[in-house]
Amino acid sequence: MIVPIFLPHLGCGERCTYCDQDIITDIAEENLETRIAGMPASRTGSFEVGLYGGNIFGLALPALRRLFSCFNDEKHRITGFRISTKPVPLNPEVIEVLKESRVTTIELGIPTFNNETLSLLNRRHTDEDLRRAVFALKNEGFRVALQVMVGLPNEMMADIRETAENIVCLAPSYIRIYPLVVLAGTPLAHAFTAGQFEPISFEDAVKRTIFLYLTALKAGIKTVKMGLTDNEVIKERIIGGSYHPAFGSIVKSTAFYLAVLVKLHEHSLHGDVLVALNPRDIPHLIGHKRSNLNKFREQGVLITWKTAERPPDTFVLTCGRYEVEGDIFDALAPAASLADG
Ligand code: SF4
Repeated sequence: MIVPIFLPHLGCGERCTYCDQDIITDIAEENLETRIAGMPASRTGSFEVGLYGGNIFGLALPALRRLFSCFNDEKHRITGFRISTKPVPLNPEVIEVLKESRVTTIELGIPTFNNETLSLLNRRHTDEDLRRAVFALKNEGFRVALQVMVGLPNEMMADIRETAENIVCLAPSYIRIYPLVVLAGTPLAHAFTAGQFEPISFEDAVKRTIFLYLTALKAGIKTVKMGLTDNEVIKERIIGGSYHPAFGSIVKSTAFYLAVLVKLHEHSLHGDVLVALNPRDIPHLIGHKRSNLNKFREQGVLITWKTAERPPDTFVLTCGRYEVEGDIFDALAPAASLADG
């Protein structure tokens, strides 16, 4: 079990343009103990602690040590720590403190591998910094994960392809994918209201996320989360971009829909179609609020299903005397071409 602790902006020297500066209260270093006290103690048994929401690499060494010392009372029950951070600044002293403090997993934020966009977002690091951090941390025995984004300013499908290629090449332990949301009060919101930035549509954000998710999955890399959850964002402050509390399940069900559609078109199947699939995939076939079933019906296909002892993410379509096998990766090509526009 992971006990997540959010430490807004801890260690952030500067702010990314999409990050909410007005409504997320910064956590001052002197408030750390108060913030952390009681959080793990309310759990029973042993647990891992996840420290999220800031740039832990940006803390000075004494502050970094103090952060972990806040957990001393629960040391015997904590199996390890995972942290999220920007990939900079990273030096050998920071790595030593992380090792001493039993950090096992480090999630590095890299919204895009396009350096012009990183600069536009005020990230103050490059893709090369990220690569250096990944290799250094892996060499020291840490598990490294990546947090990437879709829907950034000026983003083209080529950027998404580049992100996907880098994910495969860097082989993180897992990834998280966040569609951009525009939050009131941020520099990005000012650009948005001034008409200098137009977010991509929700549909394109879903398709670009599908492309990243499936490319990673094909390479054996798991996506543990897609989209922000309600506790990570104040919905009333969202003025643009792609937010949906069920974003992850919409991505998975849209991928399933596209994969089935590819097979229906390839074999010119229509009318009554029976789908045999793993029980886990039934919600993905049906879609959010039955949207997939409705879309199939609009195209003259009446879907029914039966559970089968099949691997997840695969299916067999039966239509009359035809039997056609498919899997989720059949959605890769349409996701890429539709998102290309
Ligand atoms: S590093 Fe993370 S927490 Fe810090 S400003 Fe950027 S997005 Fe916000």
